[in-house]
Amino acid sequence: MGHYCKTCERERPNEQFSGSGHRIHICKKCSAMPKLELEKILLTQELRDYAAQSNISKKNVLRIERITRFEDHKIVELSKILLEVAKIAPRKKNRNKILAKQNFELLKKMKTSILIFDDFLDQSSVDDSSNFIEWIDADRIT
Ligand SMILES: [Zn+2]
Repeated sequence: MGHYCKTCERERPNEQFSGSGHRIHICKKCSAMPKLELEKILLTQELRDYAAQSNISKKNVLRIERITRFEDHKIVELSKILLEVAKIAPRKKNRNKILAKQNFELLKKMKTSILIFDDFLDQSSVDDSSNFIEWIDADRIT
């Protein structure tokens, strides 16, 4: 029985974790990555987690604001998108519908980033706003 490494997102055998690696859930191989690379992965996951939460809290927003000052442009871009999303629709419920109506450009940006999940994308095209809203109404965004 191994441990889950949150960076490579898979189970790794016990011996792949050092003492501190256990605590922070990062395997030895990932710990050996350049620090910036590792930070980018962790921040990306953090932002995805916020996007997946039922609500992006004020405290989360403060944290996301700090992330917008990170030294990597991709992370900065993601965090800025999420910050805008949090202003318009902090709650996940109906978020895509609200964005489709209020800021479709932002929704498209979310689509092209990793902030909307794959299973969601497979079944809809956000290129056409009306189809998209129809699809959301029909189904699973609760
Ligand atoms: Zn790992």
